[in-house]
Formats: sequence, C-alpha cells, structure tokens
Amino acid sequence: MEVVQVRTATRIELVDITSKISEAIAKSGVKEGIAVVYVPHTTAAVIINEAADPSVAQDISAKLSQLAPHLGGYRHHEGNSDAHIKSALVGCSVNLIVSGGSPVLGTWQGIFFCEFDGPRTRKVHVKVCPA
Ligand code: ZN
Repeated sequence: MEVVQVRTATRIELVDITSKISEAIAKSGVKEGIAVVYVPHTTAAVIINEAADPSVAQDISAKLSQLAPHLGGYRHHEGNSDAHIKSALVGCSVNLIVSGGSPVLGTWQGIFFCEFDGPRTRKVHVKVCPA
C-alpha cells in the first residue's frame, strides 16, 4: 500500500491529487487492476470530478457548505460537525480502473482530496490490486 500526503492550507479545500495518485499507482508496479483510494479521516473525503475548470470544485465546496453550514446548532462538542457531515455525504473512498499502469479517467476527470476541517496534513491510502 502506498500512502500519499496532502497538506491543506484552508478549512475547506478541494485539492487535485490526480498526479500524486498516478505516481502511487506507477510505484506499485501493477499494470492492470483496481486501485482503491481511501481517506482514513472523518472530516475529509475523496471524489472524482471535473478538473479542467476550477470553478466546479469551488461550486461543489460552496454547495456542501450550504447543505452543512459551519455553525449549524450541532451536538458534537468539537465544533466540526459540518465537516463530519460533508465527509459522510461525499464518501471516503473511490475505486479506479488501472490500465497500462495508469488510472483510467475521462478527459475532464481528476481525483480530488476534499478537506473539510483544515488546514492539516492528511493521508490518502492507495492500494493497487492486480486483476
Ligand atoms: Zn469532530
């Protein structure tokens, strides 16, 4: 398993990690298979979405903040319930098809680490299984 580090600079941030994940897959040596990209955090997530126009990531982030505002009368004492809810809505893993040693992605797709309670240094686990 490979571990990719992601450093975020703001509380809520979608970081394009496509190149980091591609490097981790290449490092595994697996040419054909499945890669599981897993975020082991309760206030972060991972998505595959449009990487060509940065305003898409901004729109996703803004809509999630409307759905789960930072201060929303939550019960959780840490004051970051919105981040837990955003993580639950988005999900903590994605699966990738690996072909020719690279992830198969559409022309406009990228892999984004979603920070909902930053800034922090985070981990993303990448497990590549031959198939
Ligand atoms: Zn919490």
